[in-house]
Amino acid sequence: MKNTTISILGGGIAGLSSAIALKLKGFDVDVYEREKQPTDIGAGIVCWPNASFVLSELGMLEQIRKVSGEPVRMDRISDDEEPLGSLDIRELNKQMGYGSYSILRRDLMNIIVARANELGIEIHYSHELTSLNFDSDKYALAEFKNGKNIKADALIGADGRMNSIARTFICENNQPIYQGFINWVGVFECNQPVFEEIAVSDYWGTGERFGVVPISATRAYWAGGVAAPEIGERNPGDYKDELLKLFRDWPNLIPRIITETPVDKINKIYVHDHDPTETWHKGNLLMIGDAAHAPLPTSGQGACQALEDAWHLANLLEQNSEVTEVVFRKFTELRQAKTAGIILGARQLAASLFNTEQDYCSQRNQRSKETDYSTAVLGMARGWASGLPIGPQVY
Ligand SMILES: Cc1cc2nc3c(=O)[nH]c(=O)nc-3n(C[C@H](O)[C@H](O)[C@H](O)COP(=O)(O)OP(=O)(O)OC[C@H]3O[C@@H](n4cnc5c(N)ncnc54)[C@H](O)[C@@H]3O)c2cc1C
Repeated sequence: MKNTTISILGGGIAGLSSAIALKLKGFDVDVYEREKQPTDIGAGIVCWPNASFVLSELGMLEQIRKVSGEPVRMDRISDDEEPLGSLDIRELNKQMGYGSYSILRRDLMNIIVARANELGIEIHYSHELTSLNFDSDKYALAEFKNGKNIKADALIGADGRMNSIARTFICENNQPIYQGFINWVGVFECNQPVFEEIAVSDYWGTGERFGVVPISATRAYWAGGVAAPEIGERNPGDYKDELLKLFRDWPNLIPRIITETPVDKINKIYVHDHDPTETWHKGNLLMIGDAAHAPLPTSGQGACQALEDAWHLANLLEQNSEVTEVVFRKFTELRQAKTAGIILGARQLAASLFNTEQDYCSQRNQRSKETDYSTAVLGMARGWASGLPIGPQVY
């Protein structure tokens, strides 16, 4: 299999981390990305311990640690500042054997791109995939807007959730599903320390939610969300007013964060996901990352699962001498149930967080206060570690 040529379509987290994992196993791999430079849409992410394991295996965890926060807790709080329960992230880390790291998206992408460059992986920017077709030998041919065509032993579609050409080719349709809520995301930075502790704060209202994830005492990324049955407009000039209208009377930190975040650091997203699908490949083309399994951000796991894909794919290709298609089937069998569970769990949480009925939300908050979060941590650790050789002995 080492002589197999592999081309990856899409240079996001899934595409580049897979390229790195494959290169480390000795495969000949390159990447085709439509943008002129690395993309860093979204504000930040938490690399939970399952992602940290993969980042360590790919030789990036030390760099990640240098620019990340290490959150100790996730506090759930009502919009009038009543504590609703707290999840001990240090216990989660202990159970899973790796740390959790909050990081800006641009920093994570910079580290991944630098690692790809260090390994000599060629990233062809300004290559927008426009179509995929089988040739007479049943090899998928990728065609780009700039006129270039490529053929490889294996093609990996890592072209994201919204317009994946790989998913359209494999599933014969690609209809991301709008899940009825908007997220505004942003990065807040200030001169004076604001965050005494690196702890995630997740504020719950009625049909509204605001999450703050510190990276250091002076820097955090955040997401404000609201239920919205229809997809509407996106006018960056209005984002702050829209947010302040919703969150002006929430705990002081929130209007402050909105007011002090530069408007060009705010993005507005009408949030979509995909139904889980059982078929992830056709011929020599496999889809991975959000193209194959895009969960809502309420999962906190989209990027983490993209990283897991990279690790599993490289291992399976290295271990198996069968034809690519057999390996791709094995990969799907290995990854489908875990990612489907994450998609469905994220929908359930979103339906609860963005419920607009007062009574429902009061009962939800009460249930959260009564939750045994130490048991919840064990459940999360078991679920997120599944399929990976990680556990408490490693940490
Ligand atoms: C608001 C929001 C918050 C989130 N927060 C978190 C979080 O806290 N933790 C977490 O783990 N995940 C989070 N996620 C999810 C996470 O961002 C994604 O799951 C992750 O980025 C998936 O990586 P990917 O490489 O599959 O897709 P993408 O990051 O979308 O990358 C796809 C790449 O393919 C390129 N591409 C697309 N089409 C083409 C084409 N035709 N030709 C060539 N290139 C193409 C794109 O330019 C892009 O570079 C969040 C998502 C959203 C929307």
